[in-house]
Amino acid sequence: ATIGQQLDETAARWPDRPALIVPPQDVRWTWAALRARVDRLAAGLLTLGLKRGDRIGIWSLNRAEWVLTQFAAAKAGLVLVSINPAYRLSELEFALNAVGCRALVTATAFRTSDYLGMLTALAPELATCAPGALSAARLPHLRSVIQIGGPPAPGTIPFEAVSDRGGDAERAALRECEADLQFDDPINIQFTSGTTGQPKGVTLTHHNILNNGYFVGRAMRLTPEDRICIPVPLYHCFGMVMGNLAAVTHGCAMVYPGEGFDPLATLRTVEAEACTALYGVPTMFIAQLDHPDFARFDFGSLRTGIMAGAPCPIEVMRRVQQVMNMRDITIAYGMTETSPVSFQSSVDDPLERRVTTVGRVQAHIEVKIVDAQTRVLPRGEPGELCTRGYSVMTGYWNEPEKTAEVLDAAGWMHTGDLAVLDAEGYCKIVGRIKDLVIRGGENLYPREIEEYLFRHPSIQEAQVFGVADSKYGEELCAWIRLRDGAVLTADDVRAFCQGQIAHQKIPRYIEFVDAFPMTVTGKVQKFLMRAAVEERLG
Ligand code: ATP
Ligand code: MG
Repeated sequence: ATIGQQLDETAARWPDRPALIVPPQDVRWTWAALRARVDRLAAGLLTLGLKRGDRIGIWSLNRAEWVLTQFAAAKAGLVLVSINPAYRLSELEFALNAVGCRALVTATAFRTSDYLGMLTALAPELATCAPGALSAARLPHLRSVIQIGGPPAPGTIPFEAVSDRGGDAERAALRECEADLQFDDPINIQFTSGTTGQPKGVTLTHHNILNNGYFVGRAMRLTPEDRICIPVPLYHCFGMVMGNLAAVTHGCAMVYPGEGFDPLATLRTVEAEACTALYGVPTMFIAQLDHPDFARFDFGSLRTGIMAGAPCPIEVMRRVQQVMNMRDITIAYGMTETSPVSFQSSVDDPLERRVTTVGRVQAHIEVKIVDAQTRVLPRGEPGELCTRGYSVMTGYWNEPEKTAEVLDAAGWMHTGDLAVLDAEGYCKIVGRIKDLVIRGGENLYPREIEEYLFRHPSIQEAQVFGVADSKYGEELCAWIRLRDGAVLTADDVRAFCQGQIAHQKIPRYIEFVDAFPMTVTGKVQKFLMRAAVEERLG
């Protein structure tokens, strides 16, 4: 099916069940109401001269308009380009031009970001053009800017006005367009997180992401009774696929606590909206568990959820299960290039396995672990994880060489992650190949050292990475964030490690920090930490 067909089917089956709840916007729409709005917006988009396959960008934090745009673009056969809300001028210019966006949905400003200001700086022509007729020197593909909220700025089209534009002719055109759509049409260009460098634009089809959303929801046994609290950014696959497409395929509600992640707003929303599922990257769960008001909240409604996106510390998983009542929590592993999920624990897996592994491979996905020469390794040996199946992207947008580096002729996606599969198929993610530290010829896995440091009661979060060293090639460095009020020295940390982990795994450099450099998806960017330390060491 296409995403539009799925929405129609869900709205027909559960018209009166809640679909979208966004408390800060006062939005409470049923599936029937959501579908009606999506249809009007989709018909309106066709009046802007957008044709099947054209790219439409969205540059916004989490809002109801994001969800409407996602489904409307899918119905109108447009390719939605998810643009990082943290982007600034040059990044925006790069993203819009790299994929040739003809329309852009954005807001005047969110928090400290003056989006419209940045856009006008890039395209001063906006101030004098007619709405929908932009022709800007630096953004040659862009014609229409659709503005969410705020007083309408010159040259832009208010978001609501787009929905009002579609008449009978457009509705007829929409039906024709929908009938023509193929499930393997590209539907979405997602940028990777940029954890290891420049983000890459990944091309995904209806088939890729709709199916992934379905299987992700199935592992949690979602039903129309469920309400998923989604504090992760929509611009990333965690929110828009594992959140919205799991919801539409299982008929459950999407609940958005706010535009950006805020631990308190998330806790409040879980309680107030009686959410049954909660998503987050590990750092988001840590921020909630450590919030001073945490104990005030009631988690009686929670049952399941997903922790994913980065290594999930065992301690954090246990705490979430015990004190947040998420007995059926699952861990998922995936990447933007694979729609994203390929491994996920299921509610049927034994608790211990759910805490310590990323579960087993999802249905209809093949997996193998290979060595540096791409020879298949036996079970139990760590190597590069490769996956193949319905979920693998068509490629990086317009970048055949980069695509060929990760996607081989037989269709295998080389993930760049190191993993071990046990005899029963449970998978442990050991770390990224790029993060592996080779010290004096010996492979050291930062994750293992981080897990150990995590056990120290004063340590809130630890990140371990390699820095260049003239003698050993690389040396280990640990950046540590302490709990509020805790006092700890580097020597204390060394003493804590002494005799407990092999001496070569004890970080040579131990530094205390207030924060780690992070992507908007909440992932720690070790390459920036490494560069900072190397610059200091000279
Ligand atoms: P970039 O490719 O731009 O450097 P990125 O790889 O972080 O950024 P994403 O596609 O958002 O971009 O993230 C996928 C990666 O996240 C995986 O390759 C893996 O390294 C990591 N990851 C995801 N889930 C897990 C998990 N459960 N445990 C450990 N690592 C995970
Ligand atoms: Mg990646």
